[in-house]
Amino acid sequence: MENLIITKAIVLRATLFQDSDKILTLFSLDFGKISAKLKGCTKQNAKLKFAGQPFCFAEFSLIKRGDNFVVATASEIESFFNLSQNFDTLSLAMAVLEIVDKIMPENEQSPQLFLKVLKTLSLLNNGVNPKLCLSKFLLDVFAYSGYALSFDKCKTCGTALNHNYFLNVETGAFVCDLCKTAECMKVEFPTFSLMRMLNDTDLNKLETLKAHNHTIDQILVLLNANFTGKFGHILKSLKNI
Ligand SMILES: [Zn+2]
Repeated sequence: MENLIITKAIVLRATLFQDSDKILTLFSLDFGKISAKLKGCTKQNAKLKFAGQPFCFAEFSLIKRGDNFVVATASEIESFFNLSQNFDTLSLAMAVLEIVDKIMPENEQSPQLFLKVLKTLSLLNNGVNPKLCLSKFLLDVFAYSGYALSFDKCKTCGTALNHNYFLNVETGAFVCDLCKTAECMKVEFPTFSLMRMLNDTDLNKLETLKAHNHTIDQILVLLNANFTGKFGHILKSLKNI
């Protein structure tokens, strides 16, 4: 069938539509972010009920009708079931989906980000420190979007950073004591140091990083503020974390 496409995708969002349908926001490997209607999925015994849930990772066949997609079939690859077993882990995993939904325009393909999302969800699902996972994901998202944090020297005057560290959450730049402005948040040395290590660590090696919970908490607060500064969006998923 010429209007049928097949792609692996993760459900970012599912909104109830009319009585028994849902509109899915999918992040797909081949077409980036797209919307697709999932018909009859709220009915009892609906075969594709599973596909109407956030985090569902499946191979979808979609029928294109005009500008819209309708789900024809879906075959589940991974449900990330463990995510729903702990409130904090679930909130942090929801933040991953919310971030992708926010930063990706429709129909822009990014296999690189797609794989990062899958890997991050899989680490969260396997019980790796959830705040560390989300912090690493945020650092990678900044780099992906052209806003990589630079840890080497003061962004304003260029002197090497030591002793005092401040992050300007509007610009995502670290600056020294002399150059700090009202938008800057003070960063303690252990926090700065772990953030730099986290930035340089491959996602596949994340499990090997050891850190105090307090330090990871600090990092997430800073990166969350930096995300809002950069993208003008407050992450709802992190409201109660
Ligand atoms: Zn400076």
